[in-house]
Amino acid sequence: MNNYQKQLKQISEIKGRPKLLIHICCGVCSVYPLQYLRQFFDITVFFSNSNIYPYEEFERRLDALQKYLAHLDDDSIRLIVDRYDNENYTKQISVLKEEPEGGKRCYLCYRMRMEETFRYAQKHHYDYCTTVMSISNRKNADWLNEIGEQLEKEYPGVIYLHADFKKGDGITKNDLLNRELGLYHQDYCGCIYSIRKENDE
Ligand code: SF4
Repeated sequence: MNNYQKQLKQISEIKGRPKLLIHICCGVCSVYPLQYLRQFFDITVFFSNSNIYPYEEFERRLDALQKYLAHLDDDSIRLIVDRYDNENYTKQISVLKEEPEGGKRCYLCYRMRMEETFRYAQKHHYDYCTTVMSISNRKNADWLNEIGEQLEKEYPGVIYLHADFKKGDGITKNDLLNRELGLYHQDYCGCIYSIRKENDE
């Protein structure tokens, strides 16, 4: 079995402070990963989440992330907000609308957002690239890491940072910090189909 946490721990052996572009899906999921990774990397946060429906919800999650960044008060962390295009995203993903949450639709959704991150990272000469999504119990860390490995081959020059942020008490630390900070916590994953699922239950 892959031990992504072990691989993540090896970053303490990396020399210097490489440039990391990190995909972040919402404020809640960013808390522990950023606190941990900023010890080792010069971080740029990449908010690329055209999956989120409606736009007001996109703004709420971005606002929570900005509040957390203000709390960290770390000038070395930059934030880039990618273009929001939910119409195009939904068009691409709609063929899989009947899939359950955690199924093939989510694989495609992870890939679309991670690919945008890799594309930007390669264009702007980042050393490393990753996503915080593995902190969530609802996300498949094996799939995220598999996609990261595929994209590393497709976007030469950018190293994929393997991670399962929920491991090693990551999820407990993330929950505790979130409770302290009182950040906005969404009650559905993000796409229009995940709202329908919550309402059906
Ligand atoms: S349920 Fe979440 S991960 Fe799955 S497709 Fe929708 S937004 Fe993406």
